[in-house]
Amino acid sequence: MKNFKYLLIFLWFFFFIYLFFQIIEYIKYKKWLKKIEKNPPPKKILNILKSIKYYKLLPENLKKIINFKIQWFLKEKKFFGIYTDITDEIKTKIAFYACLPTVAYKYFCYPNLNYIFIYPNTIILHKKEIENIISNEEILIEGEATKDAVIIVWDKAKKEIQKCHRNVIIHEFAHEIDYNNGAMDGIPPLEESKIKEFAKTMFKEYEKFKENTIKGRFLGKYHLLDKYATTNKAEFFAVMSEYFFVRPAILKKHFPDIYKELKNFYKIDTYKILGENIFC
Ligand SMILES: [Zn+2]
Repeated sequence: MKNFKYLLIFLWFFFFIYLFFQIIEYIKYKKWLKKIEKNPPPKKILNILKSIKYYKLLPENLKKIINFKIQWFLKEKKFFGIYTDITDEIKTKIAFYACLPTVAYKYFCYPNLNYIFIYPNTIILHKKEIENIISNEEILIEGEATKDAVIIVWDKAKKEIQKCHRNVIIHEFAHEIDYNNGAMDGIPPLEESKIKEFAKTMFKEYEKFKENTIKGRFLGKYHLLDKYATTNKAEFFAVMSEYFFVRPAILKKHFPDIYKELKNFYKIDTYKILGENIFC
């Protein structure tokens, strides 16, 4: 009995020591966050950011927030290069396009995400299980998002950053945002009262677009969109998010209801920033 009492005291002692160090770590972390919130990123990171046209177009208040978020992202997420060397340019540009969609959510930094894997070229998978069906076909992967990891094919991402018509980084991180309420289903974390309207607006266009694609008709406004968006509702949300950030004029003019819903969710007016132009 006496031994048991000593064991209990011993365990409580270690528990309090553990708690004490956890609290110290948390205080240090909060202090560090406050510090990076006040200060601009290191010069080498800032120079890379200044080479991105999209960054230069952001209003000063958003630049300040994204500077903070990028430093946070770079510190917390672990980058792994698969057959490729990770450079500051790769890390900073991925961090920029990952943080851009959440710029209005200052203290959100993808809490479920830990790893970013960078491949140099398109990955070819020979087998993949999709909804319990094993396919032997070759599947080309240009990016992928799971709960705690994102895969980016840098060759593809780099070309898109230069050409500006699409953006695989925004695409994969839109999936991460979507996943943040527990399911990758095309409905991102929204207030309860807004879910119904969001789903109604988005999926009405999704169904129409899908119907057109099945019939092989790409008439009118639907020819402006990539039919990959008809794969499922999660892909529709990710592709529409790409258009919203990279080519907002298309959504604003031809799909104004989608533009409005995405603007309400992302809390940023991308058309106001980019206008008719496509800048990256
Ligand atoms: Zn996708």
